[in-house]
Amino acid sequence: MPTNKEVRVRFAPSPTGDLHVGNIRTALFDWAYARHTGGKFIFRIEDTDRERVTDEYIAAALDTLRWLGLQWDEGPEVGGPFGPYMQSQRLDIYAEWAQKFLDQGDAYYCYCSSEELEARREAQRAANVAPGYDGKCRNLSPEELAAFLAEGRKPVVRMRMPDGHTTFTDLIRGEVSFDHNFVPDFVLVRGDGSPLYTLAVAVDDVMMKITHVLRGEDLLSSTPRQIRVYQAMGLSEAEYPEFAHLPFVMGQDNAKLSKRNGEVSIAWYRDAGYLPEAICNYLALLGWSPGDDREDVSREEIAQLFTVERVHSSPARFDMKKLEAINGDKIRALDLEDFLARVLPFLKRDDVVTGTEAELSVVRQALPLIQERIATLAEVTQMVKFLFVEDFVVDVDSAPKIADEQSQSVLKAALVALETLSDWSHEAIEAALRATLIEGLGLKPRIAFGGVRIAITGSHISPPLFESMELLGRERSLARIKASIA
Ligand code: GLU
Repeated sequence: MPTNKEVRVRFAPSPTGDLHVGNIRTALFDWAYARHTGGKFIFRIEDTDRERVTDEYIAAALDTLRWLGLQWDEGPEVGGPFGPYMQSQRLDIYAEWAQKFLDQGDAYYCYCSSEELEARREAQRAANVAPGYDGKCRNLSPEELAAFLAEGRKPVVRMRMPDGHTTFTDLIRGEVSFDHNFVPDFVLVRGDGSPLYTLAVAVDDVMMKITHVLRGEDLLSSTPRQIRVYQAMGLSEAEYPEFAHLPFVMGQDNAKLSKRNGEVSIAWYRDAGYLPEAICNYLALLGWSPGDDREDVSREEIAQLFTVERVHSSPARFDMKKLEAINGDKIRALDLEDFLARVLPFLKRDDVVTGTEAELSVVRQALPLIQERIATLAEVTQMVKFLFVEDFVVDVDSAPKIADEQSQSVLKAALVALETLSDWSHEAIEAALRATLIEGLGLKPRIAFGGVRIAITGSHISPPLFESMELLGRERSLARIKASIA
């Protein structure tokens, strides 16, 4: 590959659902490689299967990439010199190439029905022969052809795979070789005229002048077929894109990560309050390392440091706890206004606030109290909602904890100490409660303050108590303590 050529990398999902962790790890590496090399990041939607790929999923895919900050240089919405970038809008191009391959003799019409193919595969299995197309329609006699046509059969277009093997150097796995005995003639176009992935992906990679294909290891075995298409398109070996197949992402249980063994949908992480920069940071470390043992990398650093040489060939293990820890770190690194902007959609979604100035001013005061205490943005709701609910109820888990005699007498003592307090600062509240409950009654802090916390916030998990009371205000605080004294 000549080094003066501009690097062009593509991310080419088939959105048949929400993009998952594996897709996004690929997208991130594609983006990072393009940014690192000063090349172009191309976003192509592989939507030839319009029964499974829907407009909603496509829109969600664009939205997810944008949310993650992986802005594409060419693709849907932004356009580019090699568009359209949706395969469903390129069907004529694939049909033309398929016709050309037929004309050149690289491809042929195959009239075998699926029942016939299945019966022959069965026989291959019985005879212990590698299953796959047996080449029956490669050289049909004029009589056989006439018979099929008379039956009205709709042929598929099949690529002729020559004997031999395909060898290429994968940038991550090194030299990889496929024996064509295991790569039978493959279908390019279905009987209804629609193109298959192998045709569309290879044609587009060539026509969009893609120089590097970085994608999941699950696609490694389709590479010899794609190379066969390049050959039929007239490319020389030096003109093929380079391939780099990224290692699998495994679940905790060492099985391939899937819906079954973990949360895979990026939309789920977004709803749960993971920050895009935390997801990028964590996914970057899944199969790649920045060259030292740092675990905190920004998107910019990923772009700056990313090289394919530092992608591992062994599978990476997805670790939810680590992602959570990184997310907590990224939350702590936010400045107040940024933090507020990020939590606001969650607080609105959960009906905690509507967004008035008065509400924002309370949230602004509460956020510094909880920034150290949460790992996801969605947790903010639970932490601050006590400041906004008027008809206040103690949560069901916590209510019994203040019902017993001792808790009740502590609450009564707390009420007496607070009712006479004129200064409602958190320092004064703390001093009064300590003097009465700890020094006066000799209680341990957990016993002294645990009940008050539940009375005030409705839960035993809350922001720091005295600050919470200051923020809630004198009247509401006293009313809540009174209400919890049965
Ligand atoms: N569209 C394919 C998929 O979503 C990936 C294409 C490619 O990267 O070669 O699995």
